[in-house]
Amino acid sequence: MMRSKWDQRIRRADELAGEHPFAAEVLRFYGHVTRLQKKLYAGMAGVGADLSLLLPLFPDFLEQIAAFAPEPVAQCARDLKKREPAHWLDALDSFWRVAPQFQPEPGRAAELLVCVFLQPYAEYLADHREPIPDGETSGACPFCSARPVAGVLRPEGDGGKRSLVCSLCATEWNIGRMWCPACGEQNVEKLAVYTADQFAHVRVEACDTCRYYIKTVDLTKNGHAMPAVDELATIPLNFWAQQNGYVKLRTNLLGI
Ligand SMILES: [Zn+2]
Ligand SMILES: [Zn+2]
Repeated sequence: MMRSKWDQRIRRADELAGEHPFAAEVLRFYGHVTRLQKKLYAGMAGVGADLSLLLPLFPDFLEQIAAFAPEPVAQCARDLKKREPAHWLDALDSFWRVAPQFQPEPGRAAELLVCVFLQPYAEYLADHREPIPDGETSGACPFCSARPVAGVLRPEGDGGKRSLVCSLCATEWNIGRMWCPACGEQNVEKLAVYTADQFAHVRVEACDTCRYYIKTVDLTKNGHAMPAVDELATIPLNFWAQQNGYVKLRTNLLGI
């Protein structure tokens, strides 16, 4: 049987935690989160558009995440668990309306918790939708309109085909090799690619017109990589990009 995408992510996080001690803590956190999300995903059948059907899963989720999350996220989970179901439903509803625009950042712990809780729901909806016809090249997810968390290069002919991975529903969609997902810039002189010896298969793709950047994981160089996980393991590239005046198109669950 094929390993589920959740198990693939968990396994990759464990593998990378062993290889990169500086990222071990975040990868372990991600691994725990993904194990919880795998369980949530299994309970999504039949929920449809009615978020109130998710409420029975919420208190247990909060209790479990409080057991391993760093502060202040853990405290926020404990506080949220003490609230009444009407408050939870309100939090889920209000987040869901703006979910595609959400950018994790320190100080937004309650939204981060709801985001982690609703991601498997978004993925379930994306996995069970009608196929989306190829449209115009877009920097936002064609299914839910959220920003991409990372790019991917997949083997095609002699080179690689570039796509983006949605930060919310994990949909992957094709875009051109030289095209800025933030502003649509196509002038190669404005589009810079940076790599570091330490991570041969991950590149920073930055735009000198809008100053946004995204990290792209090159599967032609490492077929075992998982974009969202390898993105987390290569934090030094984020700091490098930041120091050079670039802003990340969409922050990861650490807010960087
Ligand atoms: Zn999406
Ligand atoms: Zn741009």
